Amino acid sequence: MKIKNDVIVETQFIASQKALRPHTQFHNKNHKMLVDQSINIETIRKEFPILHQEVNKRPLVYFDNAATSQKPQVVIDSIANYYKETNSNVHRGVHHLSQKATDAYEAARTAAQAFIGAKSSVEINFTKGTTESINLVAHSFGNKFIKEGDEIIISAMEHHSNIVPWQILCENTGAKLKIIPINDAGELDFIAYKNLLSEKTKLVSVVYISNSLGTINPVKEIIFKAHQVGAKVLIDAAQAAPHMKINVQELDCDFLALSAHKMCGPTGFGILYGKEAILEEMLPYQSGGEMIKEVTFEKTTYNTLPFKFEAGTPDIAGGIAFKAAIDYLNEIGWEFIREQEKELLEYGTYQLSLIDGLRIIGRSEQKASVISFLVDNHHPYDVGVILDQLGIAIRTGHHCCQPLMNRLNIEGTCRASFAFYNTKEEIDMLAAGILKAKRMLG
Ligand code: PMP
Repeated sequence: MKIKNDVIVETQFIASQKALRPHTQFHNKNHKMLVDQSINIETIRKEFPILHQEVNKRPLVYFDNAATSQKPQVVIDSIANYYKETNSNVHRGVHHLSQKATDAYEAARTAAQAFIGAKSSVEINFTKGTTESINLVAHSFGNKFIKEGDEIIISAMEHHSNIVPWQILCENTGAKLKIIPINDAGELDFIAYKNLLSEKTKLVSVVYISNSLGTINPVKEIIFKAHQVGAKVLIDAAQAAPHMKINVQELDCDFLALSAHKMCGPTGFGILYGKEAILEEMLPYQSGGEMIKEVTFEKTTYNTLPFKFEAGTPDIAGGIAFKAAIDYLNEIGWEFIREQEKELLEYGTYQLSLIDGLRIIGRSEQKASVISFLVDNHHPYDVGVILDQLGIAIRTGHHCCQPLMNRLNIEGTCRASFAFYNTKEEIDMLAAGILKAKRMLG
């Protein structure tokens, strides 16, 4: 798509004019007066080097946080420092560096345990992220405990990584996949869910916060109901972990999966939480070094938890950086994160609602800082390309939720997802950019 220079210049002017408006004057009759927190935010933004760059000669506006968040300097430093000062393999050497690396890596497990409120650190299995965590459960729990005629329940708003592993398991075992429907606002139909549950249900696997709609699901109630029929529950917390404090013991979930890269941590690292007694019963996942106790050519016995599920040399730097991210988020404070993101969601929803022809997809009452939208009849890709020319990064497409898009009868959406380091000025730029896109696309 060809973007005319004069159009971009005009957009920049509008955005900068709008950005000059004092935000303390923003007022919406449904919401309280919003407080300008720019001083705190500016300090926080300084800690994220990537945010201070120009894209297409515009200051970067990064609104693709649901895909991956940006990383503060402490997380970046922790990776470099590990390779500069500590690099060594873990769990196997008696020498100083190996001990040091093991201690730092295992400190990440303890930090993760505290982060999600797990009873024991052996319930924290390090994985590559949410996708691998779900695959681990599908393989190691599914292939042992799920049989022909059993049922697995997921919802209509799942990410592909919480659909496909169960489909494959069902193909292999003869189990059936059941889907909780949603309403047009993008909320789960809880009555339909209760009707799907039966003694055949062996597993319920649902997303905590939808990556495409922002819907926050009532997972505690979902878990409670599933347990009444004896089913186990996996919570996909990929999008919840960056936005809220999670406590697996309060939720009483059997499994929980998350990815470090969505919460200011490194890519390729995450956790699978599982209740100890269930993990003990499960089949091993990948096999090789680390996960064994004793190997002979006749028979192999497996290592204790959590190493039973951690074959091979892990991403040691990733684990250490994950801990740095957890420490960083705790330091920022969950109250602050929640308030800041709530404010951005309210402000963004209000500003985008003012745009004629813009339709917000996903209107759940309980919502995280994600706004999916469509502009007139324009393809999300076209809108995304124009915004990119203006330095604004949003996500367009089906967001790895094709069945959800089918249910909503759309091909995809534009998605702006906010993190605590985003600002209302940036939302103004997005709104101005969308207006410009509308004019350009006609
Ligand atoms: N579930 C949800 C809700 C997600 O948003 C994502 C990432 N977009 C995943 C699962 C998969 O996460 P990862 O790619 O980090 O494994």
